This record gives sequence, structure tokens and C-alpha cells, in this order.
Amino acid sequence: MYFDIFTLFPEVFPAYLETSILKRAKENHLLDVHLHDIRNWATDKHHTTDDTPYGGGGGMVMKPEPIFNAVQEVLNIPPICPLILLTPQGETFTQQKALAFSKLPRLAMICGRYEGFDERIREHLVTEEISLGDYVLSGGELPALILIEAITRLIPGALGDPDGAFDDSFSSGLLEYPQYTRPPVFQGWKVPEVLQSGDHGVINRWRRNQSLLRTLQKRPELLLNVELTATDLDYLEQVIHESENSISDSIINIIKKKKGLI
Ligand code: SAH
Repeated sequence: MYFDIFTLFPEVFPAYLETSILKRAKENHLLDVHLHDIRNWATDKHHTTDDTPYGGGGGMVMKPEPIFNAVQEVLNIPPICPLILLTPQGETFTQQKALAFSKLPRLAMICGRYEGFDERIREHLVTEEISLGDYVLSGGELPALILIEAITRLIPGALGDPDGAFDDSFSSGLLEYPQYTRPPVFQGWKVPEVLQSGDHGVINRWRRNQSLLRTLQKRPELLLNVELTATDLDYLEQVIHESENSISDSIINIIKKKKGLI
């Protein structure tokens, strides 16, 4: 997958891209990141990329000309691939979005700095706006690396274990089950017997139930959008039955609705 990153700080990327899975993905020709320093497209002799906001107020705003010029030269306008503006005002990035992006041959991102961008960039240049979540960072460079990493690990062949990414939290719509490794007893705490049984049918059912339980306890709203089998629903009903007081009515209603009971 080919990424174009427009940034004022290209120097912050290489160390991370040259490490572990991303490094291997690059060596295996699954990942190719092209960094474009927006400053190279500044139009004045001081290479200015920001200016004071119209209407007053503190901070600086990224100017439109360098960013439009950079995109025009690298991708054309309109761009030849999806062009993401990284902004806390965008749609929240999710595993589902990562999966959709991982099927594209090429994806471009613009990293902001200062108080953000001249509005005309949002209105007339980019094809979508993505946020990492409801908090504000000082720049779009970390968000860009996060998107690159989340997307790349979903490209077939990028992870050592071909199924690795599909067991992860959110891939199935559920949180991942608890994991253990050796030793079997650590400071008196034992690894669940079932995981040492060697019976893969039983282990898979235990894992599925643990995923359901964790999701019910920690992120019950995720259950709304997951396909649940009759066995899953029986298990959830049993859990709810055993702990009726600690689970809110709205969650019980989600499960009942899924079972077709209401
Ligand atoms: N004043 C802006 C925030 C600017 S933060 C506002 O209130 O919307 C500077 C830059 O950091 C942004 O332009 C964006 O590229 C990046 N950034 C900050 N928080 C982010 C987030 N949650 N998700 C994605 N990018 C973010």
C-alpha cells in the first residue's frame, strides 16, 4: 500500500517506520510511505506555511497555497486517491475504517499543526476528515502513524500470524479474550485449566464466551453491531441472569432485542 503524507515535520516519521512490523512490511513491498514536506511548496522566500487568523485571536493557521500546491504536484486536484485531513473534528477512526482503507492501493493524509487549517483546505481539497478521538494533539503526525500502522497490519502478509489481526479486539466487533503464556502458575495465579486441555473445540468456545463477557462488561454498546449466534445469546442470557443487579436494563434490552424477545 502506498501512503503519501503531507507534513511540516517529515523527520519524525522514519524511526517508527523503520521498526518491527512496519519495517518488515516495507521490506516485503507491502508498504511504501512517501513523506512530503509542505514547506517545499511555500510560495515566499521565507517558506511561510502559517499565518495569523482573520478575525483575530491567538495562534496561527496553516495557509492554503503550500498545501494546495503540494497536493497538485503529488496527487493532482482532484486527488487521484482518497485524501484524508487529520483533524479532531473528523469522523472517529475505527477498526472498520482501517479495514476499508487497507483494501485501497493508495491513501494520502495531511497533518495539521498550530490551530489547524485554513477552512478552504477542508472544503475544496480533501476527500474525508478523520479524528483519532475526542482529544486535541499538537499535530497530525502521530495520527498519521497510527493510521499507517492500524491499516498496514490488516494487509495480508504484514503480520507473522496470518490470523493474528482477525482475533484482535474490534475485528469481530467484540473485545479480545484474555491471553496467557508460561509459566502456568505465577505468584500463585493459575492459567485457566481449559487453555491447557488441548481440546480446541472447548478452548474456542471458552474464548468466544470470554470475548462476549468482556464486551458486555466493558463496552456493551458494541454488542449492538455484532452478529451473535443462538449459543452466544444463550451464554449472555445466562451471564445476565446470574448478575442481574449489576447489568443495566438498557443492556439487557439489547440482548433481548437480539434474541427477538422484544
Ligand atoms: N484548533 C483545532 C485543533 C488543532 S490541533 C481544532 O480545534 O479543531 C493541530 C493539528 O493536530 C490538527 O490540525 C490535526 O492535524 C492534529 N490533531 C490534533 N488532534 C487530533 C485528533 N484528535 N485527531 C486527528 N488529528 C488531530
